[in-house]
Amino acid sequence: MTPTHTTSLAELAAALPCNPDNLRADQVSALLAQCVQPLTECENVGMFKALGRVLARDVVSPLNVPPHDNSAMDGYAFAGSALVAGEALTLRVVGTLLAGATWSAPLKAGECLKIMTGAAMPAGLDTVVPQELTRAETPDHITIAANTLRAGDNCRKTGEDLLQGSVALQQGALLTPAALGLLASLGLAQVAVLRRLRVAYFSTGNEILSLGEPPRPGAVYDSNRYTLFGLLSRLGAQVIDLGVVPDEPAQLHAALVQAAAQADAILTSGGASAGEADHLRSTLAPLGDAAFWRIAMRPGRPLAVGRIRHDKISIKTASSALDISASSYQNNSFLSTDHTLLFGLPGNPVAAMVSFLAFVRPALLRLMGSTQAPAPLLRATSTERLHKKPGRTEYQRAWVSTAADGTLQVRTTGHQGSGVLSSMVQANGLIVLAHEQGDVAAGDAVSVMLLEG
Ligand code: AMP
Ligand code: MG
Repeated sequence: MTPTHTTSLAELAAALPCNPDNLRADQVSALLAQCVQPLTECENVGMFKALGRVLARDVVSPLNVPPHDNSAMDGYAFAGSALVAGEALTLRVVGTLLAGATWSAPLKAGECLKIMTGAAMPAGLDTVVPQELTRAETPDHITIAANTLRAGDNCRKTGEDLLQGSVALQQGALLTPAALGLLASLGLAQVAVLRRLRVAYFSTGNEILSLGEPPRPGAVYDSNRYTLFGLLSRLGAQVIDLGVVPDEPAQLHAALVQAAAQADAILTSGGASAGEADHLRSTLAPLGDAAFWRIAMRPGRPLAVGRIRHDKISIKTASSALDISASSYQNNSFLSTDHTLLFGLPGNPVAAMVSFLAFVRPALLRLMGSTQAPAPLLRATSTERLHKKPGRTEYQRAWVSTAADGTLQVRTTGHQGSGVLSSMVQANGLIVLAHEQGDVAAGDAVSVMLLEG
């Protein structure tokens, strides 16, 4: 199916050859990608603000990098045509050229210049012999032994990194430290990037306590808002923390409206599973379009995906307790699309994190305009037997390390309960066991998703 803005999420899932009540994990990312239209608004930022941002358009190199042929070594520059196979070469040193200086006097046959790394090669010289490959015959003569180098060696050519007029970086590139350096090497002080994503999040549940509240029987402290804050911050999103919302339709409605009026995407946790999802389902129904998927995975399973239509919230809000009027909504000029995406994560803390990493993070990267391919899964040898039920994808918290023979090995980090954060804290990766896979024997290779940081 070719998706449009009006294709409902349920229709998208129904177009798959499998049951939305039992979606395969490896189909969910592709399904979500169809629901996400990348942002288009951009802004110019200075290089120190550009880390982690997404390039809004191709950057065409305004100059050659390097801008001149230059020496790759500290040594002696000379004309490589003087080299004769099988013969040593003795040259007279007529001067010294430091990086940043230029030399214009032509050299005669049999002459060379002492040159430092990065110094521009004078006209007519194309080869550098490193200092350590020379023998000093007299204070101003050096000898190069036979067959130690070829013409052109140790000379970096004009434009060998980037040619003037070529595309240095493509639209959609995530600006890494190396990319910042590359853009700076072009002399660019500013770069056009897509605006930052705004993501609102809240936790749901009558039993969830915010930090600072006293403990009470039957209640637990909220952890999901803090893990989501961390995961979203690492994506470079602007986060809007909307606290804890009780399992109560009017408050859920108010929180969703408030979030949709401010953000490109909303993440909720809890209340997405069967039985509890009814509040989310009934609250979302008049606000837009939503689908409640059940994914064959562990940990995780329920995932709600919705699109809250902005025209719906501006109508609704006249009577809303939050009083977000149509005009104040319209003043939020950053909201360029006609809807806000919603991802309803499971409440169990590890299930919420894994669902975020497996599905929501790739969708948000696409929303940010990033075209970067996802990080590849690694292959590592499991040092232990793993129990795995075919028919669902499992993500097991694990520690990847280097074995004595230099290959990667992996072990699980303990209790794999979907609420057990301590084994997640001890993990540097997730073993990803594919849908059909059964038990893993010790010594078998498995795929591993590395956790960032
Ligand atoms: P739910 O998905 O709402 O049924 O919640 C599943 C489990 O996760 C329950 O044990 C909840 O208490 C727990 N849970 C839900 N939200 C959070 C949260 N924000 N922080 C910690 N635990 C949570
Ligand atoms: Mg709940």
